[in-house]
Amino acid sequence: MGNLKSKTENSTVFTLADLAAWSRPGTSLAVLGHPIKHSISPPMHNAALAELARAHPRFTDWQYVRFEIHPADLPRALDLLHAKQFRGVNLTVPHKIIAFDRVAEIDPAARPVGAVNTLRWTERGWHGFNTDGYGLASAVQETLGRELTGSHIILLGAGGAARGAAVECLQRRCASLTITNRSEGNLRQLTALLQSIAPDIPLESFITSTPGYQCKPGSLVINATSAGLRPDDPAPIDLATLPRPAAVFDMIYNPPQTPLLRAAAALTLPHANGLAMLVHQGAKSLEHWSGIAAAQTAPTMATAARAALGPA
Ligand code: NDP
Repeated sequence: MGNLKSKTENSTVFTLADLAAWSRPGTSLAVLGHPIKHSISPPMHNAALAELARAHPRFTDWQYVRFEIHPADLPRALDLLHAKQFRGVNLTVPHKIIAFDRVAEIDPAARPVGAVNTLRWTERGWHGFNTDGYGLASAVQETLGRELTGSHIILLGAGGAARGAAVECLQRRCASLTITNRSEGNLRQLTALLQSIAPDIPLESFITSTPGYQCKPGSLVINATSAGLRPDDPAPIDLATLPRPAAVFDMIYNPPQTPLLRAAAALTLPHANGLAMLVHQGAKSLEHWSGIAAAQTAPTMATAARAALGPA
């Protein structure tokens, strides 16, 4: 019965109309995106909730569902979710930035990121958090045995994910942060925004095509570009042109191997994809809603995520 229930929750894509008519009993959690069909958050969270329910009966009626919501409908969806007393919401592309302006309260660590991926219901409105940075730091530690704190970081990209990663690196006091992007506009905007976070940490940037840019050897390279999502994408940087890095982390997890990770393997560099980041940001969201420590639910989420993605 439990399995049947989570099969429906994991596979159904609900709409704004479904939300307006929502009358399911129990404690509801949801992820909103556009598109949302490929999200593996429902199987991850429902596996963790099923596991928690075995030890704590209060989780028996918890469920995590997904909604396909157009960006123009996000304000209405958030109002409806609040009125229907959804306990928590995850936000994915392109809602993280739009939702930032619609929370009643914001976690101080999420403020400089300018984006939220987790909302918790309160009587006054939504309390916003961003767990992506925690996910990144935990994943780098788990998969590569490295800390952002004290590391020289080379960050690839200047979009939303790069912004969250850069803020996390500075808040955790990396030794230095060098950001590179293929185009100038986003890169300039991002570096301007970061200036005041930790002014004593060296912060540099360069356009990726700049020849001979001097980076620190032994850096941790983090890919926060979307280059590698499609089979014919190029690597976002030629790793061989950098002084030998210590390790390479790619936020992309599907496909599990990207051109950047293949290049890292060819250079015998320790490397990891972004699956553990997805898992740890999810476990931290669940902690905000349930009070159960992220470390406790992460292993179950990891198993469910690998099963949902299928064989590599
Ligand atoms: P954005 O669209 O905001 O930013 C995309 C970035 O990638 C920009 O810097 C863009 O450069 C760069 N880029 C795009 N195509 C190329 C290319 N062909 N070569 C070089 N650079 C390129 O996306 P997000 O920041 O939201 O997401 C980035 C990636 O991070 C995605 O792959 C996403 O799946 C992943 N991610 C993973 C998470 C996880 O939990 N594992 C969490 C969040 C994100 P330009 O500025 O020049 O356009």
